[in-house]
Parts: sequence; C-alpha cells; structure tokens
Amino acid sequence: MKTIKVYNPSTGSLIDECADMSESDVKIAIDRTVNAFPDWSKKLASERSVLLRNWYELVKADKEAFAKLMTQENGKCLSESRGEIDYGLGFIEWYAEEGKRVYGDTIPTHDPNGAVVVTKEPIGPTASITPWNFPFMMIARKIATALAAGCTMIIKPAEDTPLTAYKLLEYARTAGIPEGVFEVVTGDPKMIGPLFTGDSRIKKISFTGSTQIGKLLAEQSANTLKKLTMELGGNAPFIIFDDAQIENAVKGLVSAKLRNSGQVCISPNRVYVQGACFDKVIGLLTDAVSKIKVEDGLREEFVVGPLINQKAIDKVSALVNKTIEQGGKIALGGKNDEKGGLFYEPTILTDLTDNMDIHNTEIFGPVFAVYSFDTEEEVISRANDTEYGLVSYAYTENLGRAFRLSQRIKSGMVVLNSGSVGTASVPFGGVKESGYGREGSYYGIEEYVEVKYTLFSGLNLQ
Ligand code: ADP
Repeated sequence: MKTIKVYNPSTGSLIDECADMSESDVKIAIDRTVNAFPDWSKKLASERSVLLRNWYELVKADKEAFAKLMTQENGKCLSESRGEIDYGLGFIEWYAEEGKRVYGDTIPTHDPNGAVVVTKEPIGPTASITPWNFPFMMIARKIATALAAGCTMIIKPAEDTPLTAYKLLEYARTAGIPEGVFEVVTGDPKMIGPLFTGDSRIKKISFTGSTQIGKLLAEQSANTLKKLTMELGGNAPFIIFDDAQIENAVKGLVSAKLRNSGQVCISPNRVYVQGACFDKVIGLLTDAVSKIKVEDGLREEFVVGPLINQKAIDKVSALVNKTIEQGGKIALGGKNDEKGGLFYEPTILTDLTDNMDIHNTEIFGPVFAVYSFDTEEEVISRANDTEYGLVSYAYTENLGRAFRLSQRIKSGMVVLNSGSVGTASVPFGGVKESGYGREGSYYGIEEYVEVKYTLFSGLNLQ
C-alpha cells in the first residue's frame, strides 16, 4: 500500500504514515458517505446529539494524547495544542445542542384555505478539505456542524497533518458515530478535489485554505452548482490608536501574531500604529518578543515552534529579504533561527510602506510588519485597501471611533480591544476574497440546511 509519511517539523523525524489512497479507495469512501445519509438524516436531532456528546467526552478524556500528537505533526507548542483542542471541543459541544434547535417557521398565509410552513432539511452528503494549521479544530468544527444538521461528511485533511484527523475518526467510531457518517480520505489533493467537486451526490463542500485553491474548487463545483463555504486567506490589519491602552494592545498583538508561529489566516498581517505612540509600541513589542523562546513545542509549553515545512520557511525568508531590499528595516530577528531546520526568528519590521510586497502578502510566519499612520480616516482606508476581508483588529478607548471602525472596516469580523477572535458561539468567516459562508454559532448550521416552503392548500378553513 502506498503511504503518506508524516514528519515532525521540529525534529524532521518520521512520526507515522497513513494511506495514500487511490482513486477507487476515495470513491468507495464517497459512496459510504452518500449511503449513510438517509439513515443519519432521519435520526432524531436528540439521537444525533447523544452521539456527538459521546464523541466529545471520549476526546476530552484523552486530551493530552491529542495535544501531543498535534504538537508532533504541526509543531505548535503543547499549550497551544491544548488550547486548540478546547476550542475544537467547544464546537462539538455547541452543535450537539444547536442541532436540536434547527427551527422552521409558519408564515401568515396568502391563501384563505391554506397554511404556509417553512422547514429546514439537511442539505445532503457533504465534503470538506482542511488545512494543516489547526489539524483538530478545523475538523471538529466542520464535522460537528454537518452531523448536527443531519448531514454526513467526508473530509480530506492536509497531507502535513493527517494523523489528528484519523485519531478523531477512531474516537468518533468508538462513540457510536456510524461508518459513512464521518469519513476521512488522504491522498493526492489534485485527485481527491475533483472527485468531491464533480460528484453530484455531494451537495456541499466546506473548504478552508488558500484563496487560490478556493477559487479552483469553486470553478470545479460550478458544474454541479454545489453549495460552498469558503474560508480563505486573510490580510488582517491590527490598528493601535494613540488613545489605546498601549500595554494591552501590545499583549494582544503578540499573542495573536505568534499563535502557531504566525501561520494563521487571522494572524495580524499589517500592524498600523498611530504616530504619537509608535516608538512606545515598538519598544514594548521588541521587549516582549525578544523574551519569547524559539523551541520544539514538546520541550517547553510556551514557545514559538517551527514553520510547517521547507516551502513555508523559504517563503517567509524570501519575503523578509525582499522587504529589506525594498527599504524596510529590521527591529528584531530577520533570519532563520540559529536552531536551524524550520525555525524562523520572531521578527519585527519597520519603515514599511503600502507599496511593498509584504503589504499585500499573507506572511504566514512570525513576522510583525509595522506601519505608521496619522489619522483615523487614513488608516481605515489603508486597512480596507486589500482584496481580503477576514478579520480586522483595533485598539482604542474612544467609543465613537470603535463604532465607526465596526461599521467602516470591510471584513467579516472586527475585533476591538482584544487579540482573540474565535469561539463556538460566534460566526467566523470573511468577505471579499477571504471567502463566504460562516462557521460557528447559529449561522454556521444554516449552511448545512435547505429551506423548504410548503403550501398546504384546500384546507377548507373558511
Ligand atoms: P496551504 O498553502 O496553506 O497549504 P492550500 O490551499 O494549498 O493551503 O491547502 C489547504 C488544503 O487544500 C489542503 O488540505 C490541501 O491538500 C488542499 N489542496 C491543495 N491543492 C488542492 C487541489 N488542487 N484540489 C483540492 N484540494 C487541494
């Protein structure tokens, strides 16, 4: 059997391998997903809830094993892995309950002898493709929502981090979630993608990954008019006004930026600091970041881990070098870490302008790109000057300004005076080329149902 080898990005050593499936293996798994739908969709919401809850309890009881595995295959430190598991479990718990509340409507009738009833039905068998940066949470979030709504789902995790996906599958089976209801396939994405997009029996695809692949999947899905949820790239502005609580702002920035070594679609990509507090912010930021260790995440709990693979570190390194060529200055870091391998120094860049490549590139590494600005109007316009629109952060103590930012910034999420975005109860997602559709909250489950209107006429009501 052909296999995909999975390596630890901290050490380069082989962790394990999993199936590199053939086209016929994948088709069999898709058939299982399709065939499991009628029974699963007919289950009571409360029955599905019990199975999701069982799954939640089993995974929770073995949280440390999941955390260790994730740190090994992704490189994030143990405290972050644990945090991600709590975050992901939150979705399973939330949707185990939310599935019971997929309410319909009755609408005042237009027909004197009729009644209008609106129901919501599970959309059908679904598929999903997930990235390597949150190997646990991405899958928990998508599967929990689909299953709670009465859909079945087949998942293709990223090749760098398939082991967490298989472990989640194993626990789902132990919890009593039947074969076909949740399937995992691994192999060549260029082969699997078209099998998902081209299959008319699959009614929806949820994708998280790059804008480039998102567009490709949307194109491929056009033929079957598949419903899509697209959670794509970002270019998040992080704005610090001089009226902000500066220490808090820097703390929020550091934690948001260094999470997963900056390899996160909601990572602050463009830090805008108002002129009057610029030097203070750079001072505090340099101080805070220089104290953070770069290390194998299994060795120490709170560290910046490696990047995911060679391609990733080459890309970050080339981008920093290009920025320096274009006139940027290094306030801290700026090169591969002395530990070697896939470790990159936490880096702070200043003297940046909006026409540099870094302004329009998703950095995906531990690099703070800091710009200065003068006025609110200017920074809003600069923040919006991107094809992306996932999340925007700002720190200000001015209430009117906070409200204006919420209204005028073009992104699916605006986070004020915090560096923390996601949790199960809020709608996560973007606008513009960051995608469409929402995950999490009541809105997330709506993506997995079809709204049906029935007119019951001839009721002899008059
Ligand atoms: P990244 O560059 O961050 O890895 P990608 O968008 O390439 O982002 O990857 C996200 C997910 O999309 C992964 O699971 C990957 O295997 C998958 N993927 C990559 N290329 C394709 C493709 N041509 N068709 C379908 N899925 C793909």
